[in-house]
Amino acid sequence: MKTIVEDKIWLSSPHMGGTEHKYVSQAFDTNWIAPLGPNVTAFEQSIEQTIGNSTYAACLSSGTAAIHLALKLLGVGPRDSVLCQSFTFSASANPICYLGAEPIFVDSEKETWNLCPDLLEEGIKDSINKKGIKPKAIIAVHLYGMPYKVDEINQIAEKYNISVVEDSAEALGSKYHGTSCGSLGTMGILSFNGNKIITTSGGGALLTKEENLKEKAIFLATQARDQAPHYQHSEIGHNYRMSNVLAGIGRGQMEVLKERVRARRLNYEYYQKFFKDNDAIEFLDEPNGFYSNRWLTCILLPNFELREQVRKALERINIESRPLWKPMHLQPVFADAPCFLNGVSQDLFTRGLCLPSGSNLVVEDLERITTTINESLL
Ligand SMILES: *Cc1c(COP(=O)(O)O)cnc(C)c1O
Repeated sequence: MKTIVEDKIWLSSPHMGGTEHKYVSQAFDTNWIAPLGPNVTAFEQSIEQTIGNSTYAACLSSGTAAIHLALKLLGVGPRDSVLCQSFTFSASANPICYLGAEPIFVDSEKETWNLCPDLLEEGIKDSINKKGIKPKAIIAVHLYGMPYKVDEINQIAEKYNISVVEDSAEALGSKYHGTSCGSLGTMGILSFNGNKIITTSGGGALLTKEENLKEKAIFLATQARDQAPHYQHSEIGHNYRMSNVLAGIGRGQMEVLKERVRARRLNYEYYQKFFKDNDAIEFLDEPNGFYSNRWLTCILLPNFELREQVRKALERINIESRPLWKPMHLQPVFADAPCFLNGVSQDLFTRGLCLPSGSNLVVEDLERITTTINESLL
């Protein structure tokens, strides 16, 4: 018997708005095929306007590069330690290791699934009391677009005078009490990777309140070249600047960001309404004052077996879904890293599933997905 293979439904696929082509063509027409140029400048301006809150943006080759430079600008180096949300994608933590520093992983709380303030403080105190060193930075993540508890985290950061790198890779368009994510920490980062809410196929940005830090980031991202007619270097640099061709895609994408956020939030609403009477499926509501871009809609099933049952049923009819991020403290590569745990992120990883959430999904897709999930749970 031949089975009919239906069209693939992706977890989160690129969604062009239409004007990207125009800006990319301009780059070609004017021969600005370089890691700088008018598209890069205009893309940065557009990010700065959208984020607001006196924020400067430096466009880079990836979100990972942005975290690397943010930590470097905060002076993180060998023998330092950096506290990092355990429940995240590995790119949040890897740059700590690029700098020869030690990651310390901190578990999540249940209201936002992000950095737990109590455990964070425990981690800081433990470092100070047992090792006599104060961690150099905190990496907090607005995972899946849901803002972390910004006030609580900032209070602790201020109390101990530790800088916060705000990983907003998944949270462009999210807000905390009306203020844009990315502008709430000491420095912030964005990602424009292919699966994010808007994309340049690959890219990222570093966000800062200080113009000189933006300049320093661009200096480090362009091989740390001193001012001289010849090539002279007094510091180790990187090749991390964004291409002017890709920034053209970003300019076009920024024009449709609001629509993209709206579509993703509507996906979430659709799923939530559809399953509201189904006790087997839990959602993550927004606490008061928290506004998520709903980059990915996540659900929790009662246990691992049912989660897998749903995931496999979707897979069988060519629908991509994905378990929630596997926490960093459970990753083989970070097996030796210190961690402060309460079981929350491990539980989320065990029972959680990301549903297709692209802004280009149509009602027929959502119907196919929800019907399949329902049937798989009968
Ligand atoms: C995507 C992502 C990054 C890294 O961004 P890239 O542009 O892919 O390097 C960092 N942190 C989180 C939470 C992400 O989802």
